[in-house]
Amino acid sequence: MTAQNHLPAPGSDWAFFLDVDGTLIDIAATPDDIAIDPSVLPTLAQLGEAAGGALALISGRPLSDLDRLFAPLNLPSAGLHGLERRNGEGKVFRPSKPDDGIKEIVDGMHEFARRTPGVLVEDKGFTAAIHFRGAPEEEIAVLRLAEGLLAAAGGDLHIQNGKMVVEIKPAGADKGSVIEAFMREFPFAGRNPVFIGDDATDEDGFAAVNRLGGHSIRVGCEAATTARWCVATVDELLAWLFAAPTAMQASAPA
Ligand SMILES: [Mg+2]
Repeated sequence: MTAQNHLPAPGSDWAFFLDVDGTLIDIAATPDDIAIDPSVLPTLAQLGEAAGGALALISGRPLSDLDRLFAPLNLPSAGLHGLERRNGEGKVFRPSKPDDGIKEIVDGMHEFARRTPGVLVEDKGFTAAIHFRGAPEEEIAVLRLAEGLLAAAGGDLHIQNGKMVVEIKPAGADKGSVIEAFMREFPFAGRNPVFIGDDATDEDGFAAVNRLGGHSIRVGCEAATTARWCVATVDELLAWLFAAPTAMQASAPA
C-alpha cells in the first residue's frame, strides 16, 4: 500500500518518535558527512515541550552519536535500531556485551571493503554495517557477503536492510519494540504515538504505531510502506514539525 500524500493535524496528546537520517537530516555520502539544519534543534526543543517531554529519537546510529549530533539536547533516544535506549528518566538500557559473532562479521566486511572501492564498513560495536552508496553496483555482492557472514557467525543475529546499507544486528530489538517500550513509560504512556521515518528499518515502527492506534508517517511517497501518511521531503517535514506546537495548542481541550 502507498501512503496518503498529506499529513494529519497535530494533537496536543501526541508522543513523537523520530528517525534521524533521511527524516530530520538529508542522507549524505557517508554517515559522517551529514549536516543538521540549524532550525532542527530549536524545532525539536519546542516540539518536545509541547508534547510534555514525549519526544524521542529512534535511529540506527549509536546513542553516543545521537547525543553528539543533537547537543545540547539530551533527548530520550533509541540507538542501533532499538538495541540501546535511554528513557524519559535518563535511564539507559543496552545489552551487557556484543554478540560474539559481530567482531568476525566486521572483519569479513573489512576484508570485502579492502578489495571493493566505494564500500564503507561501520563497526558500531553491537552491530556491523556495510554501506555501498559509493558503489551502488555492488548491491548484490554486498547482500551475498552479509548472508555468508551471517550464516558463518550463527547465533541470534539477523540482516537489517536500509538505504544503500546492509546491517547485521542481534534479533529481537527493533524500532517497533522500542517504541512500545517507551509507550509503557512516563511521559509517553497514555499519549497518541506518532512515528516518522523514511526507510525499510522504519517499517517495524510504522507497524507498531498503527497497532497502537497512532500515526505512521514516511518521508518519501514513492515506495510501498505500512505508513499511513507521507511527506515528500525532509524540508517539508521540518516545516510541519516547526508549525506543530501551535497546532497542538489549538487542538488542546479548553
Ligand atoms: Mg532513516
